[in-house]
Amino acid sequence: MKNKLVVTDEMFFDQVRTYISDPDSLAMIRKAYEYAREKHKEQFRKSGEPYFVHLQNVGYILATLHAGPQTISAGLLHDTMEDCNVPKEEIAREFDMDVANLVEGVTKIGRLAFNDDKEYEAANHRKIFIAMAKDVRVIIIKLVDRLHNMRTLEYTSKESQVRKASETLQVYCPIAHRLGFGDIKNELEDLCFYYLDPVHYHEVASLVEAKKRERQRMVDKMINEIADMLKEHNFKFRIFGRSKHLYSIYKKMTTKNKRFDEIFDLYAIRVVTQTELNCYEILGYIHAKYRPMPGRLKDYIAMPKVNMYQSIHTTILDADGNIFEVQIRTEEMDSIAEQGIAAHWSYKEGRLYNSEKEQKEIENKLSWYHDMIAMMDESELEHPSEMLNTIQKDIFEANIYVMSPKGRVIELPNGATPLDFAYRIHTEVGHNAIGSIVNGALVPLNTQLKTGDIVQIRTSKQATGPSEDWLKIVKTSHAKNKIKNYLIKVEEEKRKEIIAKGEKILSDEIKKRNLEEKAAFDKASIEKVAGMFNLSSYNDLLYAIGMKSVSMVQVMEKLTNQKRSALEGFDISRLFRGNRRTRPAGRTGLQVEGVDNMKISIAGCCMPVYGDEIVGYITKGQGVKVHRRDCPNIRGQQSRLINVRWEEDDTTKQYDCWLKIDASDRSYLISDIVTVVAQYKAGLMGINSEVLPDKVNVTVDLKVRVNNSDQLHLLMTNIRKIDSVVGVERIIK
Ligand code: MN
Repeated sequence: MKNKLVVTDEMFFDQVRTYISDPDSLAMIRKAYEYAREKHKEQFRKSGEPYFVHLQNVGYILATLHAGPQTISAGLLHDTMEDCNVPKEEIAREFDMDVANLVEGVTKIGRLAFNDDKEYEAANHRKIFIAMAKDVRVIIIKLVDRLHNMRTLEYTSKESQVRKASETLQVYCPIAHRLGFGDIKNELEDLCFYYLDPVHYHEVASLVEAKKRERQRMVDKMINEIADMLKEHNFKFRIFGRSKHLYSIYKKMTTKNKRFDEIFDLYAIRVVTQTELNCYEILGYIHAKYRPMPGRLKDYIAMPKVNMYQSIHTTILDADGNIFEVQIRTEEMDSIAEQGIAAHWSYKEGRLYNSEKEQKEIENKLSWYHDMIAMMDESELEHPSEMLNTIQKDIFEANIYVMSPKGRVIELPNGATPLDFAYRIHTEVGHNAIGSIVNGALVPLNTQLKTGDIVQIRTSKQATGPSEDWLKIVKTSHAKNKIKNYLIKVEEEKRKEIIAKGEKILSDEIKKRNLEEKAAFDKASIEKVAGMFNLSSYNDLLYAIGMKSVSMVQVMEKLTNQKRSALEGFDISRLFRGNRRTRPAGRTGLQVEGVDNMKISIAGCCMPVYGDEIVGYITKGQGVKVHRRDCPNIRGQQSRLINVRWEEDDTTKQYDCWLKIDASDRSYLISDIVTVVAQYKAGLMGINSEVLPDKVNVTVDLKVRVNNSDQLHLLMTNIRKIDSVVGVERIIK
């Protein structure tokens, strides 16, 4: 391909001396030049040339951009760290820290493996690239390095050509564009076009070639006309035709869906003059002579593009209707358009380069700005107003970029630690992390990472795993969630173990007592017993048994008691024994939650029995009265209510309550009711019946004494089954 430039020693130093005269600076550059030649002397490029040719070229291009002595030196030395194992310290010692930092920066971004990384979009790659580079000079060296590699890409394999070219097109070209390196960007784009789409490249190239002569004639004619006119008005200016590069023609053809003729027939002319005022004056003369196309005047002098591009663009028609785009700008604007920031530093500080210090100052001023440019999308370059949001967003949500030893880039929030990194690599890497190596040094897992750090995680199968403390170390919600999930799982595992243990204790106990496991101790009855301990499920009870927070004796008592009351057969003799226990009902068996020695008694109105849902009511002077939760007497008394619960029961405790039975009157009704009460082993404490005025219906009030609410409900269910009984309910007095 084109651009086969052979750089000689003489050419290189002549170029440097066009703008650098300081002897110390020249000495440093000469030393770097010889040092690189010596270090790479055993190495050859794929082309067969000595490797040093690459460095000569990089240095030369940097010199054409008027880069400073440190930048040129670093450009010459940029491959010594990676390819010759020269340590950073040596470069710092032989040259200076600035040069060493630049070489290190270039080496680091050289390790980025964009192609293996499907995780990020091209826009992110650019962001990463810029953030990694930090110093804008590193980016410039890297761009120039890439430019020369692209110029000599023909010597590499087809596969490598495509890989390099697509990376260049996605990452390097936009950065060159954003930094205002118009020339480099255009050349890179054409080289990429050549390797990525040779068919179309040759098609466009031959079309351009075929039209060249005709086109040249047309442009020359217009240039002469304008030049004559401007000379008449005593302007100092340069005027020349400008050829569009091939890739931009092709892009316009495809994206704007235009024919080659339509694009290529737009002839481009550039007028470069002295002052801004000249630019506007020249625009005036041109518009006076030629018809401008409406809507095509763009004033980037008054409104520069974000990449500092300044110029006036207008489109005019000649007498034959040919269309010309004319760009009018000053010399400085032209340099900025072609060389970007490099032009900026040499122009703002006087035409000639002064010192590296001045250069640094300008860069510092511009660095934030260039970082922001790197963050922006293509479209935003044209609309500076949209830039503000982006800048603010990026300042406040600043991210860092770190790498795995293989060059995989991981984007993390500011303040992130190796543990965040570990979880991003893989959940298991996170869970098994025991330490980390950052830039070759062993560091604790809570170390704050910085952009450019190379992070490695040490793992072990014997790792203790995530703990609560880790939640304080990690910054990303991704890692937080993984750790939380892990901790929850561990809890669940532990709980499962304890439940299994509880189940074993229970079944052993059942066997020990020679009780039949399946029939008597089904899940439902155990669940009921759980309720008596204020536990909400079968598993909760087993867990409590496993943790030994309830006593097995009590559990078995409740279980057997419950079975007895529910399943034992009818024994009428109980009726005659009266089934009265010695202990009076209505005292204790109750506890106010969290309070001991509280005077507590059962309310006379709703008369709760063991197992009812209850609540305490704080009376004036009579302690706590325990009501059923649905008792109407406590409704609206929220402030006086207090939680109470049934104490662990002993089976001797019994509770009285009133039932009201509605029935149609018949003979033996009362006798049948009394029989059922006896049948279900309730104590009969009082009975009172009244025939209603209609002489048909009867109500029976019944005071019964029971062990618990289950027994009571069973009793009520069976009373309801008695012939002619219509309903039964508990009375609230
Ligand atoms: Mn290189």
